[in-house]
Amino acid sequence: MELITRSGLTLGTFPALKAIAPGLDVFVTTRGGGTSLSPFDSLNLGGTSGDRPANIDRNRRLLLEALGIAPRALARAGQIHGTEIAVVTKGGRYPGIDGFATEKRGLALAISTADCHSVVIYSPPERALAAMHVGRRGAEGGIIGRAVGVLRERFRIDPRYAIAIVGPGICGRCYSVSREDALRFPKEVRRYDRGRWRLDLSAFIIRDLAAHGIRRRNVFSSRLCTACTPSLFFSHRRDGGVTGRNWTLAVIRPDSRAAERCV
Ligand SMILES: [Zn+2]
Repeated sequence: MELITRSGLTLGTFPALKAIAPGLDVFVTTRGGGTSLSPFDSLNLGGTSGDRPANIDRNRRLLLEALGIAPRALARAGQIHGTEIAVVTKGGRYPGIDGFATEKRGLALAISTADCHSVVIYSPPERALAAMHVGRRGAEGGIIGRAVGVLRERFRIDPRYAIAIVGPGICGRCYSVSREDALRFPKEVRRYDRGRWRLDLSAFIIRDLAAHGIRRRNVFSSRLCTACTPSLFFSHRRDGGVTGRNWTLAVIRPDSRAAERCV
């Protein structure tokens, strides 16, 4: 992930996409440049964080203006740590779901996180996109497989030609879980260390993407931990549950026309 500046906001982007998926834009927001006060300072985009609604609205406006996205072209997920994926063609708030799939150009799919990962899957040949919120429960419940399944059924993608992006989330050193929760995951992504069970959720996500046909070389991870990087990211664990939310925005570029090179 590379940091860029747009209209005073620092955003994470994935330079590898330019060559292999030029029709896709993915932006990860960081904390700076917004209007919210501590502990939500300052670009808090999360509606359920406890911050003043006027500040959240202002922050969202700042972000959309910086990226040239119309508010009506923004789709937001209710995010209940489930596995439902909605196929969407227009903006709005979609309760009860944790992910979207679309082939609509210019529709911005927003995933809100503070330790959970955002995951984006895109198939350049069909220009089909999915974006989802993946925490421990969604990962265990199989949301990655659900998203790949929807992309296959609705948009006829072949996952061998798809790419995936794993956004920032809590790392395997910071994320301690109960023994019971740890043992639900494969041994390769959990360990007992310094008196606690720890789970490497991004490692599990990458394994699960591979299990559903997405090649490892087509997976791009931010490799950044939300809890270890307080200057950039909100973290539910680090901040004791009172914190803001970062967004990952994924958009099929409105001007994408020509067939893209397969990866
Ligand atoms: Zn960490």
